[in-house]
Amino acid sequence: MYGKIVRIDLTKENIHTEPVPEVWQQKYLGAEGINDRLLWDHFLTVSPHIDPLSPDNVLIGGVGPLGGTGALGAGTKMKWTFKSPVYNIFGDSVGCGFFGSELRYAGYDYIVITGKAEKPVYIYIYDDDIEIRNAEKMWGTDAYQADALIKEDMGIDHAQTALIGQAGENLVRFACMVMSRNRTAAKTGSGCVMGSKNLKGIGVSGTKGIKIADPDRFFKVNQRAYSLMDASPTWNVFAKEGTGFLVRHYNHVGGQPWKNHQSNVLPDEVTNNIDSDFHLRNFKIRDSACSAGCATGCSDVWRIKGSETPYASTMSGQTGKRPDYGFIASCMCWGVTDLAHIFHLQHEWDRYGIDSFEIGESIGFLMDLFEKGILTEEDIEKWTGKKMKFAWGDIDVVNFITESVAKKENALYDIIHKGVYQTALNIEKLKGVPVTRYANYGGKHATEIEDIRNRPTWTLLFAVSTRGADHLKALSTMEQMNLWDVARSVFGSEEAANAKNPYLVGCVAAWEENRTTAMNCTGICIFNSATWTYTGPGTDLIAESLIAVTGKDPGNLLEIGERTYNLEKAFNSRLKLTRKDDTLCEAWMKDPIPEGKPGAGMKGEDNLDMWLDEYYQYRRWDKENGLQTMECLKQLDLEDVAEVLGKEGVISNKPPLLREEVVKDSVMKAEAFKMRSL
Ligand code: SF4
Repeated sequence: MYGKIVRIDLTKENIHTEPVPEVWQQKYLGAEGINDRLLWDHFLTVSPHIDPLSPDNVLIGGVGPLGGTGALGAGTKMKWTFKSPVYNIFGDSVGCGFFGSELRYAGYDYIVITGKAEKPVYIYIYDDDIEIRNAEKMWGTDAYQADALIKEDMGIDHAQTALIGQAGENLVRFACMVMSRNRTAAKTGSGCVMGSKNLKGIGVSGTKGIKIADPDRFFKVNQRAYSLMDASPTWNVFAKEGTGFLVRHYNHVGGQPWKNHQSNVLPDEVTNNIDSDFHLRNFKIRDSACSAGCATGCSDVWRIKGSETPYASTMSGQTGKRPDYGFIASCMCWGVTDLAHIFHLQHEWDRYGIDSFEIGESIGFLMDLFEKGILTEEDIEKWTGKKMKFAWGDIDVVNFITESVAKKENALYDIIHKGVYQTALNIEKLKGVPVTRYANYGGKHATEIEDIRNRPTWTLLFAVSTRGADHLKALSTMEQMNLWDVARSVFGSEEAANAKNPYLVGCVAAWEENRTTAMNCTGICIFNSATWTYTGPGTDLIAESLIAVTGKDPGNLLEIGERTYNLEKAFNSRLKLTRKDDTLCEAWMKDPIPEGKPGAGMKGEDNLDMWLDEYYQYRRWDKENGLQTMECLKQLDLEDVAEVLGKEGVISNKPPLLREEVVKDSVMKAEAFKMRSL
């Protein structure tokens, strides 16, 4: 069943609770969907053009109806939504940990924070008791220290926290929130918004549990889910290796960001020293799941003896949680060769509360400029007071840059703290030479980590994502994993899963976004949903679980995903974003993948325009300017949204094509391409 919404105005020190409207439950389901509706309504009361650091921004946290219930053994993910201080567009961020489930056990599914506290505060929640408490003694502490201090102040050592380290306090635009001590809501600057409100964090403890409408049905559907998981090879790999298996997979398909994307595969000796086999053999001591109700446990706990790698000798006895692939990839951007470096940095970046993608790409970019001779030791000394080389793979350099930014210690903060695109612009200004072509980022200048140029759906998704380049707003699993059966059942053609076919890409990308968004509305972990809930029995099981938990049939989940995604698009349209913003950085558009690497010769500009046309048409948007059409929003029961866009002149009145016709045409082209390639 649903918990309440709690609204906290930090300026007025006002706290108020209310039920989740029935109509929102039906139209948006929960989590990303209801968060987006709360965001949309908030920005009807203040201008969407506000500075994201102003008290008028809002920080919304939400957990979907399956979150914290143990449904499907699929874990719990919590969504945070706001206007992004890094990219100045729609922003959201997702994180696991036990904070989201604990919030639900206290009786709340959504927390909406507005205004700005006069002095540092934290929010205390224990069931019906909610207080804004003084956090002055916590200001300046790192995420681990703050977690301990909040629990001590609450007097509840098993309380769960969502909070910021020094990076959030110092308004590093890509600061993240740290949840339950070591999971992060990393993307688009959630921690910066929290810091801008003088809010150190939230501590929560709940004793109420979650009411399940039909417990018998709930247990039956869970038993079916466990059988499916046991029989799924994908799930078993994921349970054993987590996203660590992607080190090998991305070497195979050519998706690595080695040394600021100079190569899309890793040198063999590096792979052998950092891949999952090496980790499992040398470091793993036990399995670990990071959130309530997760049967997969894609994480594990490592322990360093000291002799495993050269750097391990400096970390003897330390333990931690296994870093996921995205984190490993961030470190590869600056040429890591020692897995213990990655363990160390995960600890440091979590401690400061900083997004690994942005800092990883920025450091790789600076090292690349240093290698090219554009950046010199004299520049570095002038900016930092310290003479040093930004040499590939140097852990001391990485530590120094990270600390400089997170703690605002020198001019590197000013240069880097707004993300890699702004870093490039700043260096162009300082050095008077063009360097943006060496910075890697996707749509709306947002940073991602994989090299995507040889996977068409992935490339398009990085250009169009509502929060910028992205892997969690849409997993292009159909293409990445060559899911031929899924391709046939959804589009009637296996070519939808063929990364070598340049047709059908727009349709698949939009479908993937709708599917992923629907999963993000349920409250379960998207990683689990991708392993076995893709179509057929999996989708049925999710619907069945929702009926068991809420007592209501959710209806068409893909339509809920599509409606939610359109709300995010509408937010960006109000900021005047159009087709021209759905693009990639110069490096990915113009530079072909080097000879001898997977996908050699491919580059973004080859087909992006064609894919965008098809993507907009599948979505029933206007392909000329990328804007939503009146008809599309009407069909999604978003007439009120259309009215706002109409008043602001950012909607199209053209009649959209029929989706079936768009798919039919694309399938014909894809099949014709296949015949030509035989
Ligand atoms: S699958 Fe992994 S990320 Fe998802 S809830 Fe489980 S342990 Fe956490």
